[in-house]
Amino acid sequence: MATNEQALDQVPPLEKELDEASIMSSLARLQEVHISLRNLRETIPKVMDSVLVDPLSPDQLHSNFSQAANGAAQAIKHFTQLMEDSGTKEVMERAKESRTENGEGITGWKVIEHEDWLDVKQEDGNDDVDKEEEGTAEAGDALGLKDVNEALDKFRSAHVGLEASLIEDSRMVTLHLPLPAQINFQIQLNTTPEGPNNYSVDSKDKSKLHRAILEAIRTRPRPNDLNDLLEMLASYLDIKSRPCVKCSRLLDRNAQFPIIRSRKRTKQPDGRFASQWLALHAACN
Ligand SMILES: [Zn+2]
Repeated sequence: MATNEQALDQVPPLEKELDEASIMSSLARLQEVHISLRNLRETIPKVMDSVLVDPLSPDQLHSNFSQAANGAAQAIKHFTQLMEDSGTKEVMERAKESRTENGEGITGWKVIEHEDWLDVKQEDGNDDVDKEEEGTAEAGDALGLKDVNEALDKFRSAHVGLEASLIEDSRMVTLHLPLPAQINFQIQLNTTPEGPNNYSVDSKDKSKLHRAILEAIRTRPRPNDLNDLLEMLASYLDIKSRPCVKCSRLLDRNAQFPIIRSRKRTKQPDGRFASQWLALHAACN
C-alpha cells in the first residue's frame, strides 16, 4: 500500500511548472513524432516502387527490394521507439490531462492550416546560444592535425557505423556514409596549419543529388567550424528517407529530396543544448 500512497503523493504532471524551455522541448518532440508518422505514409509506395522500376538484373531487383524493405522496417522501428519513449509518453499524457481539464474549443490539427508551425521553433534556434554551450572553443581557430584527430574520435564515437579518417599527407578527411545514403565526402583541411580554416567539401560521385548536396554544404552558415561541418555531413545519412520539416513531404514538385540541412538547437529542461539538423527542400528553405 505504501507504493500507492507514494504514487498519490506525486505531483500530477499538469501542476509541474511549464517553463518555456520545457514547452519548446515538448513541441520539438511532437514535431519529431509528426515527421516520423508522415514518413510511414510513404512506406508501402516506396516498397512497391522498388519492384516496379525496371531492374538491370534479378540481383538488382533483389537489392532494390531488400533496401526498400529494410528502410520500411527502420521507419516503423523508429516510430515505435519514439512512441514508446518515456519523453513522448510524458508529453502525450500532459496533453491528455490538459484536454480533460479544459478541452473546450480544441479541434483537430492540420499541418496545411498552420504552414508556419515550424517557425515557432526556428525563432528559438538562432546561433546566440552557441557561445553559451561551446564556451571557449572558438570556431575558426586554426586546427593542428592532433585537433583534427580528436575531433574525428569524438565524431566516430557519436556516429557508430560512419567511417571518418584523416589522410595526413594530403590534409584531407574522408567521410563515408553507408547505404541508404551511400555518399563519400572529402573534406580538404586548411593547407597550412597557420592558415585560416576554410574547409571545402567534395564528393567523387557527381550525380545530380550529390551536386545539390555539395552546393548546400558550400553555402553553410558556419564554414570555419569542423565539428559543425562533420555533424552536418552526417545528417545526410537519411537524405532519401527524411521528409522536409516545412511541407512534410519527401520529394518536392521537382522530385528533389530535402537537401538543405539547418541546425536547430534547443535548450533542454536540464539546461543543456540538444542539436538537431532539420531537413528542408531548397524551395521550402
Ligand atoms: Zn519542403
